[in-house]
Amino acid sequence: MYAQVVVDVLSRQVDKPFTYAVPDGLSTALGMRVRVPFGKRELTGLVVGLCEEAGGLEPEKIKPLLGAVEDFPLLTEELIVLARWLQGHCGCTLAQAVRAMLPAQLRGGSAKPLTRLAVRLCQPLEQALQASKRAPRQQQLLRSVSDGRVHRLDLLEEEIPGALAVARALEKKGICEVFSLEVRRAPFVDLALDQSHLPTAEQANAIAALSKALDDGGGSFLLAGVTGSGKTEVYMHLIRRCLNRGKGAIVLVPEIALTPQMAAWFRARFGDTAAILHSALSKGEQFDEWRRIRFGEARVVVGARSAVFAPVQSLGLVVVDEEHEQSYQSEGQPQYDARDVAVERARLCGGIALLGSATPQIQSYEKALRGAYTLLELPHRVQGRPMAQVEIVDMRREILDGNPSIFSRSLRRALEETLQKGEQAVLFINRRGYAGFVKCRACGYTPKCPHCDVALTYHLVDNSLHCHYCGYRQATPSLCPACGSRYIKPMGIGTQKVEQVFCQEFPTVPCIRLDADTTARKDELVRLLSSFRRGEAKVMIGTQMVAKGHDFPNVTLVGVMMADLSLNVPDYRSEERTFQLLTQVAGRAGRGELPGQVFVQTYEPDHYAIQMAARQDYRAFFEQELKRRKRTLYPPYTLPMRILATSPSEPEARAAAEGLGQQLKDWFYEEKQRRKLLVQVRAMEAPLSKIRDVYRYQVYVKLYAADGYAEALEQMQALCREYETAKVSLRLEIDPPSFL
Ligand code: ADP
Ligand code: ZN
Ligand code: ZN
Repeated sequence: MYAQVVVDVLSRQVDKPFTYAVPDGLSTALGMRVRVPFGKRELTGLVVGLCEEAGGLEPEKIKPLLGAVEDFPLLTEELIVLARWLQGHCGCTLAQAVRAMLPAQLRGGSAKPLTRLAVRLCQPLEQALQASKRAPRQQQLLRSVSDGRVHRLDLLEEEIPGALAVARALEKKGICEVFSLEVRRAPFVDLALDQSHLPTAEQANAIAALSKALDDGGGSFLLAGVTGSGKTEVYMHLIRRCLNRGKGAIVLVPEIALTPQMAAWFRARFGDTAAILHSALSKGEQFDEWRRIRFGEARVVVGARSAVFAPVQSLGLVVVDEEHEQSYQSEGQPQYDARDVAVERARLCGGIALLGSATPQIQSYEKALRGAYTLLELPHRVQGRPMAQVEIVDMRREILDGNPSIFSRSLRRALEETLQKGEQAVLFINRRGYAGFVKCRACGYTPKCPHCDVALTYHLVDNSLHCHYCGYRQATPSLCPACGSRYIKPMGIGTQKVEQVFCQEFPTVPCIRLDADTTARKDELVRLLSSFRRGEAKVMIGTQMVAKGHDFPNVTLVGVMMADLSLNVPDYRSEERTFQLLTQVAGRAGRGELPGQVFVQTYEPDHYAIQMAARQDYRAFFEQELKRRKRTLYPPYTLPMRILATSPSEPEARAAAEGLGQQLKDWFYEEKQRRKLLVQVRAMEAPLSKIRDVYRYQVYVKLYAADGYAEALEQMQALCREYETAKVSLRLEIDPPSFL
């Protein structure tokens, strides 16, 4: 018997399974981790194949496996197939794909389950009490364990100090046995009441279509349901159905830490059958949850991105909630998109992939229209609740009318009224942490790159404007090229500024601020959210954190402080992200019995992303955005990629990018002649040209025809291997979430 083993080495040079002989007496199985000799070293690896033949190698030269690491397979056969798919699809090595599937504690090491000492009575109680008559503490312990069950000593310690010593003494007399017991580290989950609802007619339609597919061999679905249409309820019904059929389910949520509520609902409804997996858990907790899933104790998994690899058996359903969220794209290696993995994994096991959102990704909706996904829609909120009323506020008008405040007159008035009525408000400002852009305060003009459809980025150092896509540069104009005004300035208000101004203007109103700074400490987020939920804080000011999936029934007012911020991020997705953000924040208002209103402050009131978000009209936005993508050649019409060369030496990073870029160009040129493949290749300094003293250069590639993808990927990887040196790292990124 021979085993194909992927060794846990991430280098591309060893990116293939190696053959080892399985010695007699060693029982091994697909997916098991083993120790193998590798050159002069001993490494761990994962068995990805077993066969009778040595595959053309001389049997006497094949080294034997040294032993197994665990006594059970870590990965199922289905996950091994998925790992190979990842390798081909994401351009990672098989070892990287395998690593991504294991809980953190097992990556590059082995994990020990947590154990505690426990004690059990092994004599009849009467006899035992008799034998320890003169030892009151022994008697006390015996009474505590008199039920004959296993008791953890660390818990007994609370009532009987020195319980361990007492138990040891009893063990000596043969009255008790002391042994170590595996215990589970249970992640903390807020308690919640299960709120089941009778499905509405729209929900029932979606549930019926999905249930049918569950019994008929699966499929991929896009659930486009407006905010507050009750998508969660659809997921829940379907999960219940899976469980009834003996199947398991995975529910991916964008950042579980942001929606502690979600985990709580699942625990409330499914009890211990639900496992929670996310990076805020300690590695030990993750490992224990993972083991519960692996051994079938937990059949429903709620988790962030990487939970898509949870070893659920007979998987029937993978839900991707808020599927438009960026956090589903992994930025490390392997660089995978959990949405694609979900669809592929469901396909492999004949289950359902269900992507849900009020604002689906352009690519997802396009796939649904093409028939690659089945489209299900929930066009209305539950119980006939109206969508919030959205008003666009033209901030240019405010300046002209002599109001320089960051609060427009109408937002301020609405704030006053809302607070007077005892209702709550959310103020949203999407200030992200990198250099701002320039905008004319009088006419709203923002300089854009003549070659790319993106705003130029303001660079303070030399007061110039750069294009982060093609490298175009110009000096920052001192007068607005559109209207001649002097007030063309870099923009920059953030959450702190909003908080400061709010506190000055509403000094008696308690408010909280929710952003990366205030929630850096582990439990701070939960604390802030629950203080808002209890109504102690009346106003919540925050970044996109406030836009995500929260359900606060008493929030009736949402103010978007500056809608343009996300619009001018130099990225081809900035229109889409703006629309999504605005629609999602607007969706936080009026979710309870009370109707909601939203004010969107902007310098570009006529922009289609803002207009259509205000109308909460996804379809109209989609159509217009798709046209723009076609015109400017962006996905789904092209595939942008890049190879990032990083090095502490600037000339070497540049040389690698330029050399590689030239060779890639030549290769593409030949391919182009052969198969009419259209591409664009450019080597240049990366937009963020230096991070932590590491220089960054890039080769930007845009593939116009998808059919050359596999070969192009292979060629790019081969070039990466060729140009990688001790001082230059190369990394291939396929439509990454950011091109900075
Ligand atoms: P979405 O995720 O689509 O924005 P949610 O799933 O958060 O919406 O549901 C919005 C609210 O509607 C929640 O408070 C939920 O409890 C409630 N809800 C969902 N389905 C029903 C129903 N069939 N009847 C009554 N209320 C419902
Ligand atoms: Zn102007
Ligand atoms: Zn450009």
